[in-house]
Amino acid sequence: MASKKRDYYEVLGVDRGASADDIKKAYRKLAIKYHPDQNPGDKVAEEKFKEVSEAYEVLSDPSKRQQYDQFGHAAFGAGRGGGAGGFGGGGIDLEEALRTFMGAAGGGSSIFDNFFGGSSQARNPNSPQSGADLRFDLEIDFEEAVIGSRREVRINVNETCSRCKGSGAEPGSGRRSCSDCGGSGQVVSGSGFIQFRQTCPTCRGTGEVIEKSCTTCHGQGLVRKKRTIEVNIPAGVETGSRLRIAGKGEGGLRGGRAGDLYIVLHVREHEFFKRNDLDIVCEVPVPFHIAMLGGEVRVPTIHGNAILKIPAGTESGKVFRMRGKGITSPRYGTGDQHVVVQIEIPQGLSSKEKKKLQEAISLLSDKHFPLTQKMRNAAEVFYEHKQALEKAK
Ligand SMILES: [Zn+2]
Ligand SMILES: [Zn+2]
Repeated sequence: MASKKRDYYEVLGVDRGASADDIKKAYRKLAIKYHPDQNPGDKVAEEKFKEVSEAYEVLSDPSKRQQYDQFGHAAFGAGRGGGAGGFGGGGIDLEEALRTFMGAAGGGSSIFDNFFGGSSQARNPNSPQSGADLRFDLEIDFEEAVIGSRREVRINVNETCSRCKGSGAEPGSGRRSCSDCGGSGQVVSGSGFIQFRQTCPTCRGTGEVIEKSCTTCHGQGLVRKKRTIEVNIPAGVETGSRLRIAGKGEGGLRGGRAGDLYIVLHVREHEFFKRNDLDIVCEVPVPFHIAMLGGEVRVPTIHGNAILKIPAGTESGKVFRMRGKGITSPRYGTGDQHVVVQIEIPQGLSSKEKKKLQEAISLLSDKHFPLTQKMRNAAEVFYEHKQALEKAK
């Protein structure tokens, strides 16, 4: 197996649900820490710089992030199972990493002082406000993850109130100046030397209040609704895959767009099919005589039963690869199935059967059991050595 590429979220030290802002902040911190200008000649820092830049490059782009969430590094690899992965297989070079950094800094003049422009201007509270994104955890069967499926989920969601269109005001009613702050949107509290200004809690800084609240949403602009959403689960998803359903999150206010809904998938384990990327690993019992003399066994695969040839003298734990019997992803091809041999010993033999088998087995001698021989010889050497040492004491 090739070296494991670190998870991008882990690289940036954020969790999978991190907002775009969190990701930017985390990247900023790390990129400055490992920037080559700060660490001249330090190869380890350079590698770290490239690593965080690559992670940021993907996680800061919503569509790349979605692909990554769904397919992991395979989403950008030169092919599945190949190892290096990421941007055509070779990771990201320093020049690219520096470009990412400059791009994120927005032009690049005096980066360290001015990174990301600091605080953006305060948001006008009367302007449209987008709805929040929602997360819904969905448990699915192994089969659904492999084949794909269509599911309906019911969620409670705050939708934009249809009566007031998210303004919170009863249709036809206007706004008046907030009496608590005199329309300034800010109130001063404290006394003497210690005085501080804060956003007026009554009008939330808008300086205006609604004359008459909407009778449906009581001025909130949002109403709680049960919503049924159809989710298309594509083949090849795994635990942690996120499906983004645009516009199905919380409703926006004052004409703002709705947020998105993220379905986070959790795949139930299967009794014997285990998954490794697009490959399936499966322990298969093989009757001892087939393992001994060779033959064929029927092996379950996710595509149906398949026949596997077992050569004579197959030992327990031996792994056979069945090409193309793994998971098929429309984008990343098809994996293989790895069959781990588990030799099965017959159970419940009658005394007559035992007697007959005993006759056959008498044909066998030490030379047919090389592992036993090998162990015996090793033990001999050990005892001789031990004896010699004890004598010499
Ligand atoms: Zn309303
Ligand atoms: Zn006010």
